[in-house]
Amino acid sequence: AKERGKNTYQIYNADPDDKIIRRMKLENGLRTVLENDELRVYYQPQVDLRTGKIKGVEALLRWIHPELGFIPPDEFIPLAEETGAIIPIGEWVLETACKQAKLWQMSTNPSLCVSVNVSIRQIKEDNFVDVVAEIVERSGLEPAYLELEITETLMQNIDASLTVFNQLKKLGVQISIDDFGTGYSSLSLLAHLPIDYLKIDRSFTNGMLEHSNTISIVKTIINMGRNLNLKIVAEGIEEERQELFLSQHGCHIGQGYYYSRPLPVEELDKLLEEQHEA
Ligand code: C2E
Ligand code: CA
Ligand code: CA
Ligand code: CA
Repeated sequence: AKERGKNTYQIYNADPDDKIIRRMKLENGLRTVLENDELRVYYQPQVDLRTGKIKGVEALLRWIHPELGFIPPDEFIPLAEETGAIIPIGEWVLETACKQAKLWQMSTNPSLCVSVNVSIRQIKEDNFVDVVAEIVERSGLEPAYLELEITETLMQNIDASLTVFNQLKKLGVQISIDDFGTGYSSLSLLAHLPIDYLKIDRSFTNGMLEHSNTISIVKTIINMGRNLNLKIVAEGIEEERQELFLSQHGCHIGQGYYYSRPLPVEELDKLLEEQHEA
């Protein structure tokens, strides 16, 4: 029993060590991820629920690490936020996505919007708005076609955000509250910040048809958003009946595996071409 106890101890110990080593590898890797060209932007369609047509795309980062392979963004984004690597990475995503959207506008979809996730860490940089302005200008994209997605859970300081949001509105870009409903401050955000879109969190869309409470919450979010003149996006739509319910209750835009997974540029090219020809 004693020996077994010892083994168990060692197995227990192995885990945290591996985690620390992995973390160090990722942290180091993040420093050179741009110069080594290891990041890719995938794009997930956002569908107009009235017409069924692709109205926009969300840019989602993918990292292929040379040794560790595919690293999910939920793992490396928080790390990049901690180390500050998110600043250059975030600028790169923004630039890549804006340029790509402009290309798609010129080829197949003149009114295509692009949504880019920005982390609070980026917004806190003094020159954030200037950087966005410069990138948008360089890309040739009309600012109105760029949507910045900001997660409400991370936005604690509404006063500080207000100045930045007002400047972004002046620039002409759209602002979207991501994962809406999962934070503590949802309603005060709505009351005080200039916002254009609400994204209903995936957890609501998912549980919706099984739980009557969730249904009520989703209906309430949609009604409230519409009363505030916001556009409502539902993320995580995986089934037809979810789409049906959401469109019947006035949700404007749908996103999820039901329409498409996030895709590399070439595959999204094909989808947009199909719709262009139809
Ligand atoms: P998010 O912004 O909430 O993005 C939606 C996530 O849900 C994406 O995961 C997407 O692939 C996934 N998803 C979409 N439709 C469905 C569905 O029908 N079912 C399910 N189960 N999942 C669906 P992904 O790509 O792994 O990204 C995870 C998170 O990483 C994002 O959550 C976002 O917070 C962050 N992230 C991704 N790219 C960036 C970026 O460029 N910058 C920043 N700051 N964060 C990013
Ligand atoms: Ca998002
Ligand atoms: Ca989200
Ligand atoms: Ca999220």
